[in-house]
Amino acid sequence: MKPIDLRSDTVTQPTPAMREAMAKAPVGDDVYGEDPTINRLQEIAAEIMGKEAALFVPSGTMGNLASILAHCGRGDEVLLGDKAHTVIYEAGGISALGGVHSRQLPNQADGTILLEDIRAAIRPNDIHQPPTRLIALENTHNRCGGVALSPAYGWAVRAIAEQYGLFLHLDGARIFNASVAQGVSAKELAQPFDSVTFCLSKGLCAPVGAVIVGSGSFINQVRRIRKQLGGGMRQAGILAAAGIVALETMIDRLADDHTKAKKLANELALIPSLVLDPGTPYTNMVFLNISPEFPHTAQWVAAKLKERGVLVGVVGERRFRLVTHYWIEDKDVIEASQHFKEIMANG
Ligand SMILES: *Cc1c(COP(=O)(O)O)cnc(C)c1O
Repeated sequence: MKPIDLRSDTVTQPTPAMREAMAKAPVGDDVYGEDPTINRLQEIAAEIMGKEAALFVPSGTMGNLASILAHCGRGDEVLLGDKAHTVIYEAGGISALGGVHSRQLPNQADGTILLEDIRAAIRPNDIHQPPTRLIALENTHNRCGGVALSPAYGWAVRAIAEQYGLFLHLDGARIFNASVAQGVSAKELAQPFDSVTFCLSKGLCAPVGAVIVGSGSFINQVRRIRKQLGGGMRQAGILAAAGIVALETMIDRLADDHTKAKKLANELALIPSLVLDPGTPYTNMVFLNISPEFPHTAQWVAAKLKERGVLVGVVGERRFRLVTHYWIEDKDVIEASQHFKEIMANG
């Protein structure tokens, strides 16, 4: 039996429409710029995000890395939230490969960084200190519960960036979840930023890939860096074809994932030994803890759930992350909640 996989939206399989588009995609050598399907994906992506140009990359991690390497030279400093994906989950690539100095400022519960913290962190022109070059934000903010940042916050940070002559990058891996949750376009969310990375995999279900958007000259720069990183791909239109289906048909339906996450949270909230985070879910992620009186750990509960065909993310000793996506149906939400209830009752 197919498990109910709530570990992440990264587990999503491509849809039948994607597999069909992939089989039929016209392709060419993209390092020569000759793959028509990739070129089309990049045009669509640039249009949706309201930027001049776009570049297909194998992963969101490479998108952030190439973007940050384009904005920062060796020894330059980037200001990031301390819970940023780039800080925690990208294997230190910006420092290891780019010599970029990362300065981590406290992420607030709502995924923002305080404007006064950003201002205070910007370095004076002093030969003892690394020059501040870039501010990077994340939307939706993964480690802050999948919470969405508003366009107003983006503009407030933009004003600081302009005042000090800094670049502004957005890790928008799940920018379409942020867009759908707030009822604002991805273009509006992207507008304050010089560069944005977003994922075609995850909630949009493409098997592989992410896109970087920005000005034409910036995209030329990241195209060279992508080559340096070994990310110049040949007939990758096969992959881009799924990305086109993702952008054309899979964005609006993310609202269903958010509805299912709410339903899941409502069901789990009824179970006495589970404590949901205040505000969860903001988008497609439900965060919860096991209450102190329950005798077992999250690992223990996850193992019991797995025996019953339910997979969940364990993100702490007594903490879970559950993510809804295209392949989770309403009945799966009910079934998973029922298993949770029985396991927590018999613990
Ligand atoms: C998933 C994710 C990425 C990129 O991950 P890849 O697996 O490399 O595509 C970047 N930022 C955030 C916030 C993410 O959740």
